[in-house]
Amino acid sequence: MNIGDDLRGAVRGRVYTAGDGSFEVARRPWNLAVDQPVRAVVEAADADDVAALVRYARLNGLTIATQPSGHGASGNTGEVILLRTTRLDDLEIRPDERIARAGAGVTWGRVLRAAGPHGLTGLAGSSPVVTVTGYTLGGGLSWFGRMHGWASGSVRAFDVVDAAGARARVTSESDPDLFWALRGGGGDFAIVTAVEFDLHPAPRLYGGRMVWPVEEARAVLDAYREITERAPAELTAWYELLHFPGAAPLVAVDSAFLGEGGDAETLLRPLDKIAGRISDSRADLPVADLGTITAEPTDPGPGRSRAELLTGLTDDVAAALLERPIDPLLSVQLRHLGGALARPSGTPAGHLDEPFALYMFGVPGEDGGTAVGARQQEIANALVPYTTGRKPFTLLAPGERAANAFTPGTLARLRELKRARDPHGVFRSNFPVLG
Ligand SMILES: Cc1cc2nc3c(=O)[nH]c(=O)nc-3n(C[C@H](O)[C@H](O)[C@H](O)COP(=O)(O)OP(=O)(O)OC[C@H]3O[C@@H](n4cnc5c(N)ncnc54)[C@H](O)[C@@H]3O)c2cc1C
Repeated sequence: MNIGDDLRGAVRGRVYTAGDGSFEVARRPWNLAVDQPVRAVVEAADADDVAALVRYARLNGLTIATQPSGHGASGNTGEVILLRTTRLDDLEIRPDERIARAGAGVTWGRVLRAAGPHGLTGLAGSSPVVTVTGYTLGGGLSWFGRMHGWASGSVRAFDVVDAAGARARVTSESDPDLFWALRGGGGDFAIVTAVEFDLHPAPRLYGGRMVWPVEEARAVLDAYREITERAPAELTAWYELLHFPGAAPLVAVDSAFLGEGGDAETLLRPLDKIAGRISDSRADLPVADLGTITAEPTDPGPGRSRAELLTGLTDDVAAALLERPIDPLLSVQLRHLGGALARPSGTPAGHLDEPFALYMFGVPGEDGGTAVGARQQEIANALVPYTTGRKPFTLLAPGERAANAFTPGTLARLRELKRARDPHGVFRSNFPVLG
């Protein structure tokens, strides 16, 4: 029997192996720049099917990489069974308790559409198509992180399948060590089949993008510094240098504000004096439309990113960022951190002393991404005195390591837990803690 026949006997969900017509499509991640060699792909029918798959893998000395969407694909999938959780798509919103329960295939967009009409939001980031589970297992850096901290800090419970193939509900009381590891340590410790988390009040949300020609980049950055210096936790603003193919380069400020539009406009007023504004999409937003602020692509495509954490936004940092065009990068983004993200979280994501995250993105060309990587490296080199080397787990890129995301103490505890809970290495995270 080959692995395909074996797997079809072990699970009820769909199985794809080399030779099947749709295998090449099934194994592809959302980030098409990443190649994923895998032995097989399994689309589990439900949580019991996930448990059956784990028991099969354990019995046969095989490894499973769970990948609902592939937004965080790292290519670390050689010889694995790739588990798709798409069909674990139950979503329950309990507005009175301000709690949501999402299956492992549920995306943030679905949660926001369901929670918004109740005046509630989850701690989503910029993309509506990443899964709640994958994002939260890595900590999850939200538009609302300054107000409410890491997304993982809002988790109440995880439904999991452990490395022996047993199902369990994990809370801070039932299994404090595993609960801690799952709140930001990545996908190395168990397969999560559902996550239960707090929703937060969002009766009013205001936000959007303001755009100018790149010639105003310095003036916009100066105003951005002034705004972020005194921004309350309700306001999060991102500065963006943008260069889309075939278009003139631009500078933008994206913002989201948990409150009345008039208050946000007052806080963002330093930007009003900058001439030549091309567009301004700021408006009262339904929570469901959070993803329209940055309007990132929702269909699969190739990308190469690199993140850094910045110790400040000094004149020297500004000069390094604006020294020359970002080309061939598409975007260079500064995300304002601080607020609740700077406070102890009791999760592996810890706290961030750094007040800004830098996120550089480009689409690999015919050179396979060499030019994009070189430009990212050049900017990172110029910023060395102002970066700490640490990166949020969800923003790690292929080639980087879990060690880049955690303090040494946290990494040691995660490693100890990995050895204790998955001694045979049944689970493989995109960024393994032992890697
Ligand atoms: C366009 C775009 C915008 C983004 N914006 C943000 C942002 O604003 N903030 C932020 O923090 N991040 C952001 N990210 C990063 C994103 O959150 C991470 O890539 C995250 O890992 C995506 O989760 P996923 O499940 O969709 O992706 P996948 O690549 O499918 O999963 C990522 C990893 O999570 C683990 N995993 C997923 N599901 C399970 C499970 N059920 N059980 C066990 N392990 C599991 C696995 O280790 C897997 O490799 C963005 C990424 C993109 C491409």
